[in-house]
Amino acid sequence: MPDSPDLTESLCPQCLRRIPARRITENGSVYLEKSCPAHGYLGKALLWNNAPRSYSEWERPLDKNVPRNREKEPSPPPGYPLRCGLRPDHKQRTCTAVIEATETCNLRCPVCFASSPGAPAKDPKKEEIARMLRSLLDAGGPCTVQFSGGEPTLRDDLPELVALSRKMGFDHLQINTNGIRLAEDADFGRALADAGASVAFLQFDGVDDSVYKRIRGAGLFETKQRTIERCAELKLGVILVPTLLKGVNDDHIGRIIRFARKWVPVVKGVHFQPMTYLGRYPGKPRNEARLLIPDILDAIEKQTLGELKVENFIPPGCEESHCSFSALAVLGKDGRLIPTTHFDSVRRSRPCCSEDYARRSIDHVRSRWRYMEPGPMPILPGNRAGSGPAPEDDLFERIRSHSLSISGMAFQDAWNIDLERLERCCVHVVTPEGKRVPFCAYYMTGTRGRRLYPARKEY
Ligand SMILES: [Zn+2]
Repeated sequence: MPDSPDLTESLCPQCLRRIPARRITENGSVYLEKSCPAHGYLGKALLWNNAPRSYSEWERPLDKNVPRNREKEPSPPPGYPLRCGLRPDHKQRTCTAVIEATETCNLRCPVCFASSPGAPAKDPKKEEIARMLRSLLDAGGPCTVQFSGGEPTLRDDLPELVALSRKMGFDHLQINTNGIRLAEDADFGRALADAGASVAFLQFDGVDDSVYKRIRGAGLFETKQRTIERCAELKLGVILVPTLLKGVNDDHIGRIIRFARKWVPVVKGVHFQPMTYLGRYPGKPRNEARLLIPDILDAIEKQTLGELKVENFIPPGCEESHCSFSALAVLGKDGRLIPTTHFDSVRRSRPCCSEDYARRSIDHVRSRWRYMEPGPMPILPGNRAGSGPAPEDDLFERIRSHSLSISGMAFQDAWNIDLERLERCCVHVVTPEGKRVPFCAYYMTGTRGRRLYPARKEY
């Protein structure tokens, strides 16, 4: 990678070749500017707005999380890292491994990072998935596994795949789902929970049907509520995962958080994903149409009327800092969220350069993103009335069972991808051959639907 802090590499959206790029700052906003030798000047893609947190404020230093588990090729062939798994100098190990259990889907969303065809497709066999899981063990040990798709619940043997993963030592298993089958098929939900699924990573774009009709092509709000009720019965934790589109549902951010608050403890978190131009998307992105992490932080504070503030959100220590944000809150006795994270405290305690850092991140997700038996109401500062167990015990119990994590991740597309960022990616898709590919590289889609990974269609 180039030495200058402003120089990096990117891709050409037309030919998907690696090309030089530079980050430039104009009026406080940061852009990625690039040209392709074959396709000329490609303009400036907006990466970050200046307020309420600037690009440099949001930076966290690189941790030395050199993975034990990089691919073994001695020298990268041309096109690395984008076609061949993790390149030898990849800087982060796998925290979450995504396994595409199927390409089949029961929705045909206008926006879909996996551009799932909807029609029946050839799914990887159970033995092939076992091989993918084994490759993860060989590469460094159990991590979080997310079964994705397509719609993974359309596989009748998903509970078996979950049980198999458990047996192999994976103990945090997420199901990335639209929730339709969980809402409608009680036996299937029960089988999934019994097999050891940890959490439903539930597509949840808003709190009324108008949003679903626009983004998913169907009114699904009632279905989503039924899914959550079912998960509560099954004691299966739920993470609400809104895809945010500017001008469509960015005004639902506060309402989604209030909805989540009502459903604690079964709802364990909200994980916002601003729309990214991967897979199936409506066309070339305009900078003005992009919703950035600073915009979302600002909207959270405004739309929750300050219940959660920008200062409660911290950059990640695991993936590249500009990829995500998070805050943790506990639900208080009065039904309001009490944030327990603070930007300044993270700035003061820079992450240590230890091998264990990624492991701690994984443990954090494990402990926060799964169902816990409800604990007693907390006795919090300013609310000390009450007797019984020591206040610290109460609070500990309450944090354990009634925490809500509010987080988000901004994926990169062919226009704004910064390959320095990609080097720190910890969310990896496992290919049928057992290679691990950074999420955004795997789903990278250029103009005219050109993919870096056409091979994924050839199960
Ligand atoms: Zn080009």
